[in-house]
Amino acid sequence: METVGKPPLLSLFDHLSKRKMLSNKENKYYLNLKKGYEGEVQFLQLLKRLKGDLLVLTDLLLEYNQATFQIDCLIITRDKIYLYEIKNYEGDFYLEAGKFYKKPHYEVINPLHQLSRTESLLRQLLLSINCTLMIESFVVFVNPTFTLYQTPLDSPFIFPSQLHEHLNIVNLQAKGITNTNRNLSAKLLDLRKEISPYMQLPIYEYEELKKGISCKSCRNISVTLVKRTCVCEACGDREPMSSAILRSIREFQLLFPEKRLTTNQVYDWCRVVDSKKAIRRVLKDNYQTVGKKQWTYYV
Ligand SMILES: [Zn+2]
Repeated sequence: METVGKPPLLSLFDHLSKRKMLSNKENKYYLNLKKGYEGEVQFLQLLKRLKGDLLVLTDLLLEYNQATFQIDCLIITRDKIYLYEIKNYEGDFYLEAGKFYKKPHYEVINPLHQLSRTESLLRQLLLSINCTLMIESFVVFVNPTFTLYQTPLDSPFIFPSQLHEHLNIVNLQAKGITNTNRNLSAKLLDLRKEISPYMQLPIYEYEELKKGISCKSCRNISVTLVKRTCVCEACGDREPMSSAILRSIREFQLLFPEKRLTTNQVYDWCRVVDSKKAIRRVLKDNYQTVGKKQWTYYV
């Protein structure tokens, strides 16, 4: 079973939040991404215990007929597909006249609307690739502090107290996966997209970001160099200089994919490394060299 890799957009926000002040809107969006991801990790943790014959796909961004849709989790069994919209909501919520509110009266997007849109698009996509498996869809609430008042009995909700029982049922009927199932899973992974029009990319410039090496444990930009070891002044964590440089380069690439990777660029980004020679070595060992002498860059 696969693990949920951190979405690149969330990693980007992780890095960015240490290097600049996020706006209130960005911060809210970042926290939502973080909570959503934690919810998915939690759900997948439970799925790991399932011993049935099934295929699990997570975080699928798909497109059908120019409409993009995001699937948090999909379980493929021989005769059925389970579709899950995972919510990590905390606190008291209620349903009223088809609308979803957080108490006292803050309206949030009704996850049932999200679920039916996703299911409908998924169904059409599956038909287009000749798959007629039945889809059963659920909204899963993973957070134990979550309560939903006024829930109609026939809602496709799974509450924290019902999760184990639900997964037991899925597990029991998950038998005899076929090659058609496996091909379907491979096909969906093949169709997976990277960028969604709903992603809110933060706006930032190289110049405004705090430079320096972030600590690999506490993530603060508080690393100094002691001989050839990077030492974090905040938490005391130690890391060999070359691996800290490589980590910083990857962080830089995620934040600035369009910028050219050069020794001088990485030197400016890392700030605390005084040896350009050390930086050049890390670049040479891990990337391909293009050009010569002062025009060298790495890809
Ligand atoms: Zn630290």
